[in-house]
Amino acid sequence: MSDYSEPKSCNLPRSAINKFSKEVIKHFNYNPGDDLLPIVQTLGGCIIYDDLWGLKESDSGSIVIEKPNDFRIILANHTSQLRDRFTICHELGHYFLHYLLPGIQAPMRAARYGQNKAETEANWFAASFLMPEEEFRNYYEEVSGNLLLLSEKFKVSQQAATVMAGHLGLAK
Ligand SMILES: [Zn+2]
Repeated sequence: MSDYSEPKSCNLPRSAINKFSKEVIKHFNYNPGDDLLPIVQTLGGCIIYDDLWGLKESDSGSIVIEKPNDFRIILANHTSQLRDRFTICHELGHYFLHYLLPGIQAPMRAARYGQNKAETEANWFAASFLMPEEEFRNYYEEVSGNLLLLSEKFKVSQQAATVMAGHLGLAK
């Protein structure tokens, strides 16, 4: 595995990553809550559920990128569907921000779910892709911040919706 490079921070501010995720949303005609698999497949990727990996890496996922349009996202078997959706978008964040954007040539592997800058950037991408600011604000207003309804509409965990509400200054 040592010939796989690790993702390096793209050093973009959160606002730029939000803007980038908006472009991706537009490109794929994605609506909140839509299935993510067609997007992964259109990009040439696949999703694998790996039990052994789950034991080893607890509840985190990973992405292995061989070359452009050839990657696999590995998910733990025991995690929830909502959690998996966030992980898939997180891994796509690595693919876009840390592989395609800087034009990396070597195969890349992102396995850690740690605290470094690249991980934070991938989380920013995932959050803004799954919960675009404008739609999130509007729906938050509409349902008076009901976390269950927010979770159902955007197909994210209530925890992820809570974090986004806090980030946008909506939480009471
Ligand atoms: Zn990551």
